Amino acid sequence: RFIVLEGGEGAGKSGAIAALRADFARDGLDLVTTREPGGTPEGAALRRLLLAETTHDWTSTAELLLMTADRAQHVERVIRPALTAGRIVVSDRYVSSTLAYQGAGRGLDADLILDLHSRAIRDLWPDLTVVLDVPPEIGLARSQARLGNAGIDEGRFEGLDLDFHRRVRQSFLDQAAAAGRHGVVIDASRDKATVEAAVIAAVRAAVG
Ligand code: C5P
Repeated sequence: RFIVLEGGEGAGKSGAIAALRADFARDGLDLVTTREPGGTPEGAALRRLLLAETTHDWTSTAELLLMTADRAQHVERVIRPALTAGRIVVSDRYVSSTLAYQGAGRGLDADLILDLHSRAIRDLWPDLTVVLDVPPEIGLARSQARLGNAGIDEGRFEGLDLDFHRRVRQSFLDQAAAAGRHGVVIDASRDKATVEAAVIAAVRAAVG
């Protein structure tokens, strides 16, 4: 089974993935948890290139190609082998992030993105995509607080443009609606424990 967690800034994806790991571990199940960009050593190098806001100025198309390269590597080196071995894989972001950020956010054509992905993922679509939905005003404030507190200066390359984040959010909601039983939206503006319990319930229902 292949599960993807999606959401904008400050939606709580990493906390939800940690909660999922802990919950499945109680049953002796070791989830493969991974993320994009950066789920492989090569991808981690791409992530540094993509997120070092101060030193790079990627065009939207270049950014799309690098994100897609990261994903191709991630699929063939991590996700597909783990699924073949019968493991449950949970990825923090996947194709839906590219449709949301590079597509709806940056304005690149969804058909172009999907064309590239027919090569990059070779039909490896998630069984379930869980969207952690939070208004950008709330999510950005959360992630600013977290980054500030931790003293992290990893560039957030789309900055604080609210309209950009609103388009990203709407894209995730539209994709979930179009995905039918393969998509679920969770209200992530609620408190952490409530959101994490909802994520666990959604994933348990999908994994069976
Ligand atoms: O989810 P995470 O915080 O690790 O994402 C890192 C950054 O990369 C975020 O600022 C996210 O908005 C951005 N991103 C992007 N396009 C993607 C995936 C992530 O702009 N396809």
